[in-house]
Amino acid sequence: MSYLLALDEGTTSARAALYNRKGERVAMESFPIACAYPHPGWVEQDARQILQAQIDSARAVLARHRVEATDIAAIGITNQRETTVVWDRHTGEPVAPAIVWQCRRTADFCAELARDPRAAEITRKTGLVIDAYFSGSKLRWILESVAGVRARAKAGDLLFGTVDTWLIWNLTNGSDHVTDYSNASRTMLMDLATGQWDDELLKIFDIPRQMLPRIVSSSGIAGTAAAHHFGAEIPIAGIAGDQQAALAGQACFRAGLSKNTYGTGCFALLHTGEHAPAVSRHKLLGTRAAQTGPTAAFAVEGSVFVAGAAIQWLRDQMGVLSTAAESEGLAASLANNGGVYFVPAFVGMGAPYWDAGARGLITGLTAAAGRAHIVRATLEAICYQTRELIDAMEADSGEPLRELRVDGGAAVNNFLLQFQADILGRPIVRPADVETTALGAAYLAGMATGFFSGIGEVESFWRAERTFEPAMPEGKRSELFGEWKQAVAKAASKAFQDSAQK
Ligand code: ADP
Repeated sequence: MSYLLALDEGTTSARAALYNRKGERVAMESFPIACAYPHPGWVEQDARQILQAQIDSARAVLARHRVEATDIAAIGITNQRETTVVWDRHTGEPVAPAIVWQCRRTADFCAELARDPRAAEITRKTGLVIDAYFSGSKLRWILESVAGVRARAKAGDLLFGTVDTWLIWNLTNGSDHVTDYSNASRTMLMDLATGQWDDELLKIFDIPRQMLPRIVSSSGIAGTAAAHHFGAEIPIAGIAGDQQAALAGQACFRAGLSKNTYGTGCFALLHTGEHAPAVSRHKLLGTRAAQTGPTAAFAVEGSVFVAGAAIQWLRDQMGVLSTAAESEGLAASLANNGGVYFVPAFVGMGAPYWDAGARGLITGLTAAAGRAHIVRATLEAICYQTRELIDAMEADSGEPLRELRVDGGAAVNNFLLQFQADILGRPIVRPADVETTALGAAYLAGMATGFFSGIGEVESFWRAERTFEPAMPEGKRSELFGEWKQAVAKAASKAFQDSAQK
């Protein structure tokens, strides 16, 4: 068999890619997925459309490239994380729209839980900051708010899954109800260290245990896709949440290796090896990395909520750009930022702040500031926010980062990556294949089925395309970063400022 099939189910599209024995992507197809916003802050998707778009993209990639299902050694699945689906185990019908990771409908419940005496214990156990982002409160909301659902769940008629679980249950015609450690670690229901669903957490969120999937390794045969989907049975042998898949796709399988993905937001993950990381002193998340063998794998994670999305905002809301790519030339046309800083806190600030009430601002405007300054300040903001994550990781671990591997849609921007190297003071390395999410899923499936011999072979595939070396003098770096911090302080919510003074 000549290929691996990676299914990459993202927030805006489902993609399917084929990889050959050298770990090279030979084809990719995608189908869009719609989001609905029924109330301010609410984000939903149709779980059936997610499934159909994923199946359609896989069928399209096979058909357009004339590859038979019998020539596929295994399927690897990677998915938008935390998004929550509940369905009837007898009919397969979802009982409610999928609640997407971005959805804030459970923010009040989470704010209350964060004030509960048990809050510190929840964070210690799960590695997570209490927030509406994770699946536990979303699942609780469905059980509380959709008529009749709690009784059906208690009777054992309903199943819960993140998107990986939903796809696998359907692809295996309902025979496998599974998730992997990386996805399970985003639910707030799993004990991070033991890798088991936790009774105390299930009690806090009031979740019947029988709804939950079995947790399996990220690299191992989890089930078999039934023949009618793609024309022949195919083992499903890799599962990982998108950011953990990207970490694997960057061949970061060992402690100390890290990547940052520049997409809508930024997600920086640092592999920390076989032991659960201590609770972060800087509000980073403890999470499971993709597990490839019998031993657990952990990572710390920091996220920037608005990164490439701020470029999109300049283009679509402000009309400052006609394309995202235009930002590179405009930013590079200036010798410096002219003292202009943009804090794109459209939905609050993530790590190391977790200030949900922060809001965006632009500071330092003079009459000399123009379009290019705003664009430059936007790209710089992505880099300052990333530096804050990396600083937090280094402060937590006491280990300096040697280099940062990068990927994601905005990682094509050379100004962005050079400024990132300058403001971080470390080399930034862009790999030849920046579609690391699908690649990671393929690696996990390939290692489980002997298509690849193991981590060593997969590591040998990784190639740098370009390295950006830091060129900014240290004095300048700290001056700019200090000014950024002042701008962030102005964007903070009143509640955050008050708590910082205590
Ligand atoms: P996601 O997977 O989060 O949907 P992608 O990885 O596809 O996102 O990246 C898309 C994001 O990258 C968009 O927010 C877009 O504004 C930004 N982007 C794309 N190209 C560039 C560019 N050349 N410079 C800066 N930002 C860019």
